[in-house]
Amino acid sequence: MRISDIRATTVTVPLEAPLRHGNGCHWGRFVRTIVEVETDNGIVGLGEMGGGGESAEAAIRGLKSYLIGHDPAKLEEMRFRIANPTASLYNNRTQMLAALEFACLDIIGQAWGVPVHQILGGKLRDRIPFATYCFWRYPNPKTGEGEVRTADQLVAFAQSMKQKFGFTSHKQKGGVFHPDYELEAYRALAESFPGEGSRFDPNGVWSAEQAIRFGQAIDDLRVDYLEDPVFGMNGMRRVREKVRVPLSTNTVVVNFEQLAANILDLAVDVILLDTTFWGGIRPCIKAAGVCETFQLGVAVHSSGELGIQLASMLQLGAVVPNLSFAADAHYHHLTDDIIEGGLMKYENGSIAVPDAPGLGVKLNREKVREYQELYRDLGNYPYDQDPLRPGWSPILPNDRWADPKDGRLPKLV
Ligand SMILES: [Mg+2]
Repeated sequence: MRISDIRATTVTVPLEAPLRHGNGCHWGRFVRTIVEVETDNGIVGLGEMGGGGESAEAAIRGLKSYLIGHDPAKLEEMRFRIANPTASLYNNRTQMLAALEFACLDIIGQAWGVPVHQILGGKLRDRIPFATYCFWRYPNPKTGEGEVRTADQLVAFAQSMKQKFGFTSHKQKGGVFHPDYELEAYRALAESFPGEGSRFDPNGVWSAEQAIRFGQAIDDLRVDYLEDPVFGMNGMRRVREKVRVPLSTNTVVVNFEQLAANILDLAVDVILLDTTFWGGIRPCIKAAGVCETFQLGVAVHSSGELGIQLASMLQLGAVVPNLSFAADAHYHHLTDDIIEGGLMKYENGSIAVPDAPGLGVKLNREKVREYQELYRDLGNYPYDQDPLRPGWSPILPNDRWADPKDGRLPKLV
């Protein structure tokens, strides 16, 4: 079996409402690039990567000359061929490697007639629990609905998500408003779910002192972890000295060099494994093994996903023994998906691990065409800009907070 073709298609799928974060905003939609790897015996494997649009398509197509004729089961060979660590200083291809790894695992699973989790050690659980992922949201520009700007709106949103999907752990994305405002809102959120866990993530935009103040002020709550309160391993270490709640990261430990550094001089308690950032499902499993040895917590991170990426997260969660927390997913903010059957279903706050051969998802070609058109109409959006704050950009540590009294409707193209 050999790779005979590689295709990339960028799609845009609408979100219920624009999602605000410490570095900007998802402007009411996700832009994702679908990667299809085809073999000479007619199997098509699926991968997915974030953003990038035409440039992501071109970058994936640019790897055809490396991979046409390659055996998709030779995954380590593929890693060194396109993402050799020293050669990669010139061409960082980690995220492309990830999408191609998903696709090759999907191919191997289909060829062998087994789900990906069976290739990766076998599943330990049938369902993966997820957390409510609460964002500050601008209203949907078309309907005026979906705004989350006040503590009351935040609690109402989280309660509605719990009612709909059954989540028992609750995450708040922050870093948008002044930390004192967000502290009050987060406490209201956590206290509205007695006996359930919660977590807060300001995307690393605080100073160490600000992070210490926040971390100490939530000490009495049942906190899963405080995620990336500051950016940088040394800042995290300073915060950890003064704060008792566990710290987690998806930003400063995203490769094995950083994982080793964190183990030699501990700064972070819980490593959030992202199948894209780490270059595939298999590196995440290796990292989880290191964390198991040193008894660090592990959870599955969400970098904003459609169904293919979600399948990679479910397959990862299925096989990692030391999965200590509910996973994160942006998925419940989406209005639709490009896979057969539409959006995967949450039940009791969890999603079933697909058991069909490969990743367990297939493309709905009609949906791909529809959302490819939408991408052509709308183009990219600047993830690190805020539609209602032209000229704004955050600094580190940040002090350019948004105004919680500003209830304007964004105009989004
Ligand atoms: Mg994060």
